[in-house]
Amino acid sequence: MARPAHKLTPRTKAVAVLGALAERYGEKERAAPSDPLAVLVRGVLSQNTSDVNSGRAYRSLMDRFGDWDSLAGATRGQIARAIKSAGLADQKAAAIRAILDWLGKQDGYSLDFLRGLDSPEVERRLRAIKGVGVKTARLVLLFGFGRPVFVVDTHVLRVSKRLGLIPPGCGRGKAHVLLDDLVPDSQKYSGHLNMIEHGRRTCHPRTPACDACPARQWCLHVRGQVQ
Ligand code: SF4
Repeated sequence: MARPAHKLTPRTKAVAVLGALAERYGEKERAAPSDPLAVLVRGVLSQNTSDVNSGRAYRSLMDRFGDWDSLAGATRGQIARAIKSAGLADQKAAAIRAILDWLGKQDGYSLDFLRGLDSPEVERRLRAIKGVGVKTARLVLLFGFGRPVFVVDTHVLRVSKRLGLIPPGCGRGKAHVLLDDLVPDSQKYSGHLNMIEHGRRTCHPRTPACDACPARQWCLHVRGQVQ
């Protein structure tokens, strides 16, 4: 017989929750890693906007400049005009400019020189760039370098709090540390994608569809214990 939810260790609960989400939404197979620099720029563009808008901005950037070397010759204003569909265009253009300036002092417009470093060091170096936060740095690790790190976006944060995997007042930075520890490496890739899918399809911010939720038995929100 399954143990009552309140008797599970946090790690066992995380594994059970992710297993239930995988059953509902499917286990996600690891795709071939993408160009890490493309992941980094897309990560910057994705801040505070939808995938549709950030994807449109990235295509516009590539259509306008063609490759990284041409983009490196662009001014901040030119970049901002190309990415306006992502919103916060000036701020994001400044971050992209900072990335390109940083790479200009390295070995060219590629992140390949980071491949030999361990994940915390890659994250530290990327976060030292103005405008690159913990989520964006970890997206590069997960999708660009194929590393087992857990990435927390707005959906993952909300779902994890409702399910009691992290404390209700937990911020994004702390959530990365806690969930990285709770989620086994083998589940980090699929778990990240399935938590996002759950947040989009079922565990909506305002009116979650709790009656249809595969993780309801572990949820603190349905018991009125968290928002
Ligand atoms: S039971 Fe409702 S609030 Fe809880 S995780 Fe499922 S959908 Fe979200």
